[in-house]
Amino acid sequence: MDEKKQGGSELMDKIVSLCKRRGFIFPGSEIYGGMANSWDYGPLGVELKNNIKQAWWKRFVQERGDMVGLDAALVMNPKVWEASGHLKNFTDPLVECKKCHNRFRADHIEGKTCPDCEGELTTAKQFNLMFKTFIGPAEESANVAYFRPETAQAMFVDFRQVLETSRKRIPFGIAQIGKAFRNEITPGNFIFRTREFEQMEIEYFIKENDWQKSFEYWLAEMYEWMNYLGLSKEHIHNLEVPDGERAHYSKRTVDIEYDFPFGKSELYGLAYRTDFDLKNHSNSSGVDLVYTDPESGEKYIPHVIEPTFGVDRSVLAVLVEAYCEEEAPTTKEGETETRVVLKIPKHIAPIKVAILPLSKKEELSNVAKEIYKEVSRNFFAEYDETQSIGKRYRRQDEIGTPYCVTVDFDSLEDKKVTVRDRDTMEQERIEIKELVNYLKNKF
Ligand code: ATP
Repeated sequence: MDEKKQGGSELMDKIVSLCKRRGFIFPGSEIYGGMANSWDYGPLGVELKNNIKQAWWKRFVQERGDMVGLDAALVMNPKVWEASGHLKNFTDPLVECKKCHNRFRADHIEGKTCPDCEGELTTAKQFNLMFKTFIGPAEESANVAYFRPETAQAMFVDFRQVLETSRKRIPFGIAQIGKAFRNEITPGNFIFRTREFEQMEIEYFIKENDWQKSFEYWLAEMYEWMNYLGLSKEHIHNLEVPDGERAHYSKRTVDIEYDFPFGKSELYGLAYRTDFDLKNHSNSSGVDLVYTDPESGEKYIPHVIEPTFGVDRSVLAVLVEAYCEEEAPTTKEGETETRVVLKIPKHIAPIKVAILPLSKKEELSNVAKEIYKEVSRNFFAEYDETQSIGKRYRRQDEIGTPYCVTVDFDSLEDKKVTVRDRDTMEQERIEIKELVNYLKNKF
């Protein structure tokens, strides 16, 4: 059954419900009645999210000689946001219905009337998305500060220190993973648009002449990454953002869109930020952010290509792509039942292996616990001896565990266990002493 052909909202509902039921993502502050559009990652969600972030860091920072990492403060000197243009330009056009008083982003609605009640709308006014706060006990304008709306600025502000300490030469990049905050007018669609979210961003510093080549290179890298996440190419689309619609700093932007159940929407973005940020921070701070080529002595302000990846949108796209309902045989001959399975790529699945003794009898659980101990040294594993084996398989399928290892009474005799593959449901008898090696080959 191809779920994606079913109604999009039905699929979203199923995903949201699975996430809650199995402990991926919960509504935030729920015991207090929740807080609109805030979500907490539960035990499995945090594993999935961390696996994505770690894989990204390994691929784009550690495995490359031309990238270094950064982890900067969330609240920066407010002058940063003045120089970057965010105070003036980081706005969305806000309209309000005069009848029902609901608010909308003017660029997100079609037509001139309220999408909820067809009432008359106010004219659009620009609403700044930055979250304001005060530093210290006095709530005075002199103490106003902002939570960062993007991780990017720290890479520009710290550019000189990174350059001096890392001794990198252009072209090179600075990468950061961290939270960003935006007072979105219309958050929604689960973790797709929230007011607090995580980004994985790269600022890649180049010579101006190289920007087109570098842009194409990074676009291809982003596709490789999406392939790694298991997102199929037919669900991914490039949107060339036209003049007049790009962010204030960008000379070219491609929005990479994904077919989410609620429609084609931005997953990632790639922007050519020119020398806009470094130039403005140079002028504004008075600190020269010029780069001197060590060989030619040439001095210039580097230009920047920025690939940006939303962490939460990555998690959502992975879940959407992985969610499957299919007919599977039951234990009774010829009968089938619908099973829900998350076909998450093995390397990012929250739990890699489940160890399931067929019964709670001590003779079995002793052996199974030994196996669990050994497997856990190599893979994140779960030990589960509650409920029937059928129910336990069902749970592991629903949380995307690639391999289930069952320990049965034969195991005590033949020193073998049964390994079940999540996707094919095929079962193989493997010698206990070979199990870890067998699993290592599978990953
Ligand atoms: P949109 O047009 O959807 O508002 P944007 O173009 O403003 O997004 P960018 O400023 O390019 O987004 O942000 C970079 C990335 O951060 C996006 O591609 C997305 O993955 C993620 N992102 C942006 N806003 C949010 C949000 N409110 N909630 C979750 N992720 C977000």
